[in-house]
Amino acid sequence: MAFSVYAASRGHEVVLFEAKSEVGGQFNLARKIPGKEEFNETIRYFINQIKLHNIDLRLNTKLDASVLATEKFDEVVISSGVVPRELTLPGFDNPKVVDYQQVLNGQVEIGQTVALIGAGGIGFDIAHFLCERESTSLQTDKWLAQWGIDKTYQHAGGLTEEGEHHPGRDVYLLQRKTTKMGKGLGKTTGWIHRSVLKQHEVKMKTGVSYEKFDEQGLHIKVGEQAEVLAVDNVVLCAGQESNTTLVDEMKATGLPVHLIGGVDVAAELDAKRAIRQGAELAMVI
Ligand SMILES: Cc1cc2nc3c(=O)[nH]c(=O)nc-3n(C[C@H](O)[C@H](O)[C@H](O)COP(=O)(O)OP(=O)(O)OC[C@H]3O[C@@H](n4cnc5c(N)ncnc54)[C@H](O)[C@@H]3O)c2cc1C
Repeated sequence: MAFSVYAASRGHEVVLFEAKSEVGGQFNLARKIPGKEEFNETIRYFINQIKLHNIDLRLNTKLDASVLATEKFDEVVISSGVVPRELTLPGFDNPKVVDYQQVLNGQVEIGQTVALIGAGGIGFDIAHFLCERESTSLQTDKWLAQWGIDKTYQHAGGLTEEGEHHPGRDVYLLQRKTTKMGKGLGKTTGWIHRSVLKQHEVKMKTGVSYEKFDEQGLHIKVGEQAEVLAVDNVVLCAGQESNTTLVDEMKATGLPVHLIGGVDVAAELDAKRAIRQGAELAMVI
């Protein structure tokens, strides 16, 4: 979206192909996380910009080389994003083992007790999503009550008792690394994510190795200590890989091909980098 808009604003004719029925990619997943509703506005902004710049947006249209055989383009920009990283361990082919995209897309029923594998930004977000019964972030009074903020200043420091918390689920957040949980979260926001999960009594374990999943649950080891977590589901939040299916096919057409966002580098991906890459490419193409 970013590349299309900035390139069109410089006078290029842009055709934007989107396989799904809506634009936004993974932002459509991110906006479902309590507190990330503002991403709706980012998508709304780009939808308006796409219209204003007369970009030829083709929804429900998967780009492949056959399209390029019938239409003429000077350059191809691939921004096909990422796919969740899979883990191949015994029992992980069980339908109760799912990935974060299936959870946020509502494609799977999730039980009461859940283990999340991977405690990066997405692991934290999924824990929040699964625990919070109702997002309060757009309901000011409920939100203030949840965090114990007294907007009438009747209490010292404007703070009062935090509201009661009833986590919607029992969640384990697991990571292989032995470092502090959420170490890679943003410097200014990491403490908020950690506080939220603390409110929801999420059980965190570091230094975990994963053995198998069966009818008893998830078998793990923490150091040398074996443990079985009696969970209904396992959700994989174990990173992402570039969705490169188009890359070789497009390069074979002989056209100049550019990669931006997650398809370029999946590690440490965030929207800021994806948008910036799109904007910078649009300035030089
Ligand atoms: C739960 C969650 C929370 C997040 N929170 C944040 C956050 O707080 N801050 C932040 O900056 N980032 C956040 N992100 C990350 C952010 O969403 C991504 O960094 C960003 O969406 C990456 O953009 P992208 O363009 O690389 O790919 P994507 O957003 O993955 O978009 C790829 C698009 O390409 C389409 N596509 C793929 N193949 C084809 C094809 N052959 N033809 C046509 N279309 C195709 C897909 O349908 C998709 O719409 C979050 C992500 C998730 C999942």
